[in-house]
Amino acid sequence: MSNKRKCDTSKFQIVKRFIESLGYRVKCEEDVEDSFFPYQKLILIKKRLNKEAQLFYLLHELGHLIIHINSLKWKHENIQYTIDHHVTRDLEITALWQTSVLAEEHEAWKNGKAISYQLCLEINLDKYHKLWSESICEYINDAHEKLNAKK
Ligand SMILES: [Zn+2]
Repeated sequence: MSNKRKCDTSKFQIVKRFIESLGYRVKCEEDVEDSFFPYQKLILIKKRLNKEAQLFYLLHELGHLIIHINSLKWKHENIQYTIDHHVTRDLEITALWQTSVLAEEHEAWKNGKAISYQLCLEINLDKYHKLWSESICEYINDAHEKLNAKK
């Protein structure tokens, strides 16, 4: 294992332990999508060869966890919290819903960056920002498709 990879693996463990200290579990598996399950207190991370990307997605999911912990504040400042709703097709094709999803995704990446500073992780910010923006653009494309499909 290269030094860099080893380093990203140990950073992953630091973030994982931090999440566990908040009372949540982290599972890293082959055939899963990166996701956060607030009521099961669980974060799933897809196992990757690229350990740096794996670390970045863990930071992002932790970002969702932080939104959840502060969901009262979130609801006060934003349109709605998507976790509170059962997703239906009718809901998905609303601008309110798509804007809420985008706001949460953006906030989760932002929180992940803030936590990396708090944990003194020294991540590659250019790469983190690239993944952040690419991920947001995927959500924008998805929103575009869903909102146009209703016409
Ligand atoms: Zn997300």
